[in-house]
Amino acid sequence: MDTLPPVDDVTDLIACPNCDTLHRRMDLPPHETARCVRCHSVLYRSPDLRLSRVLALTVTCLIVFAIANAFPIVEIEVQGIYTETTLIGAAWALYREGMWLVALLVFATTVLFPLSQLLALVHLIAPLSVGRRPRAVFAVMRAIEFCRPWGMIEVFMLGVLVSLVKLSAMASVLPGIALWAFCALTVFLAMVLSYDLRNLWQLIDRTPDPVAQDAHAKAIARSRNDRGTVPR
Ligand SMILES: [Zn+2]
Repeated sequence: MDTLPPVDDVTDLIACPNCDTLHRRMDLPPHETARCVRCHSVLYRSPDLRLSRVLALTVTCLIVFAIANAFPIVEIEVQGIYTETTLIGAAWALYREGMWLVALLVFATTVLFPLSQLLALVHLIAPLSVGRRPRAVFAVMRAIEFCRPWGMIEVFMLGVLVSLVKLSAMASVLPGIALWAFCALTVFLAMVLSYDLRNLWQLIDRTPDPVAQDAHAKAIARSRNDRGTVPR
């Protein structure tokens, strides 16, 4: 009967995304790329960003995100009347105008998904950077993968810039603090998201799971107790 290989042997394996050829994963020197021996597709790259740097960038993103949502994006002046709004204020205005689906899309793609993704990354990276295994790893990793295609801050930025150029012909438009914050956020977010999440899996595999260790220790203690019990 075939026996399964040890877990350590399997976690080191990586399958080519194009031809499924299995390779054994090894640590790469900085700026190196591992390619498939069969079809030469990229398997993985050496992590250019260290974990502490990714954590610092993610926390910076959260701070800039808070600034971007707390201050007005733009101030418009038409015949002496000033109007200004925040991003959430714009989504709320759309909702009140009856365009609830558009309002929901704006809120989800520019606030909900990017924020969830950043919080999930902090939840994973903060414990890993001090050598502890984060809780609910699989659920959080799945949540990050789910949120990734829905975060569209850069699309939003492009839309705002096009609208501002068009509006400037009709009214005087003053960019608000949030607009600069969104510009910075687009750059920081691109840097954070360029980090290959597969590197996190490697770190998670190397970090001992305290819950599993505790359960294992309890199971051993229980089996010893059972063996030591003398039936009366
Ligand atoms: Zn291949």
